Amino acid sequence: MDNSNTISRYVRQEIFAGLGKKGQEKIKKARVAIIEMSSIGAAVANNLARAGVGYIRLIDGDYIETAELQRQTIFTEKEAEDETPKAIAASEYLRSVNSEITIDPVITDINSGTIDNLIEDVDLIVDATDSMEVRLLLNEACHHLKKPWIYGGTLASSGMTMNILPGSNQPCLKCFLGEEEYSPGEQPTCATVGILNSAASMVAALQSAEVLKLLTGSDAVRHDLVSFDVWENYFEYIPVDKDPDCPVCGKKDYAFYGKVTGSQTATMCGKDSVQVIPKKEGEISFEKYAEKLSSQGTVKYTKYTLDFNDGNIEIKLFKNGRAIIKHVSDEKRAKAVYAEYIGL
Ligand SMILES: [Zn+2]
Repeated sequence: MDNSNTISRYVRQEIFAGLGKKGQEKIKKARVAIIEMSSIGAAVANNLARAGVGYIRLIDGDYIETAELQRQTIFTEKEAEDETPKAIAASEYLRSVNSEITIDPVITDINSGTIDNLIEDVDLIVDATDSMEVRLLLNEACHHLKKPWIYGGTLASSGMTMNILPGSNQPCLKCFLGEEEYSPGEQPTCATVGILNSAASMVAALQSAEVLKLLTGSDAVRHDLVSFDVWENYFEYIPVDKDPDCPVCGKKDYAFYGKVTGSQTATMCGKDSVQVIPKKEGEISFEKYAEKLSSQGTVKYTKYTLDFNDGNIEIKLFKNGRAIIKHVSDEKRAKAVYAEYIGL
């Protein structure tokens, strides 16, 4: 399209002193990955697509549910009803927002086996996961691959964000967290203390601004951690020092990255569901599984997911063999269901 006689769609960014036309050109050439289409991730994706980031990879292994519409601001009732995979719904919406950029949806779990392919060819990664394990893996992977990333988390009415930059003097997320042991299941989650969409939007707004600064090489890049609470009325900048004894950026003693995992399960935040990831992921045939399972219950499938329901067990199967077992909270039980119906 010849834009020479038309006003650029990014004119309000091009006249903004911090970016200018040169900055906009850099944004156009940049590649960004967003880890999960959560309340934060969906809002960041929306901002970055509209700002003209040239390539955006949307990574998420989950589907949309009605109780998420309150805070995941680019999804619709219809998509929740259809249980559309979030990466797909987000990509369709964002392509209608900006057809001049590349939107790359990836439906997958993020683990030590998948992380390299998801982030090694991008300039910058935005963290919007609600899983501390995924975040710690990302911290290690980005340290190893020397990729800048932007930590962001929200819970109830609070939020935090920090730029984690490569470089020998830069602190990583583990420097901030310290030795505090991470114990899944014991931390408060959005399922136990709730979440306000305003807190998530605030994190997304702060991250989106830092993305533009980092992609354009601005010297306004923030080096402090931001911590705020929109209900309790505070907003703080907290300096984070590099810890010379940090197991990640000090000693490269990674706890998650590079570890070979077998088949695994994970409970899902805010859902009475358990995800099962087979040891070997690979494209599977829905036709084959539909034929196999149709004698045991109702089966329906789309291009992206297959749903099985026998009135008792409910399974959502993805093309790479990953499955979400619904209405179970016990990981052993979920694995047993997967083994029985899908086959480990
Ligand atoms: Zn560190």
